[in-house]
Amino acid sequence: MYHRRTMQRKPSDPSRAPRPTFGRSKRSQLSVIDYTLAKRALLRDAQAGLQSVNDLCDAHPELMRAAKYVGEPTRSDCPVCKKDKLVLLAYVYGDRLKQDNGRVWSIDTGMRMAAADPDTCCYVVEVCRSCQWNHLREAFTGRRAATG
Ligand SMILES: [Zn+2]
Repeated sequence: MYHRRTMQRKPSDPSRAPRPTFGRSKRSQLSVIDYTLAKRALLRDAQAGLQSVNDLCDAHPELMRAAKYVGEPTRSDCPVCKKDKLVLLAYVYGDRLKQDNGRVWSIDTGMRMAAADPDTCCYVVEVCRSCQWNHLREAFTGRRAATG
């Protein structure tokens, strides 16, 4: 579906593409871990001078590139530089993904992948395109059918 080197989406026949069926109920089909508290603690340490801001704003060049192209805009200001709005990206991990394991995706795609396979985990990362602040925000896994 994606060009392996450039990550560009190949044109496909829209009538044959499966329509996303999640929409509003997407989150209800996924288990969520929230990392807000860990993030707040880190930012508090930075404000108190216990943690270097340079260490927090260390986004990998590949992450910055992805943030530019597939990052989903938010209305939240960057908590570090307050100069830019944060964008969201998804890292998806799962053994069955093979060469796609650990790759960066848009939030929608990442959540769809997690919902499709309970062994897959979608990590949502917030990124500031100005100062390169980046932090895990939430992690989603597909709900496994409850078996003893
Ligand atoms: Zn920033």
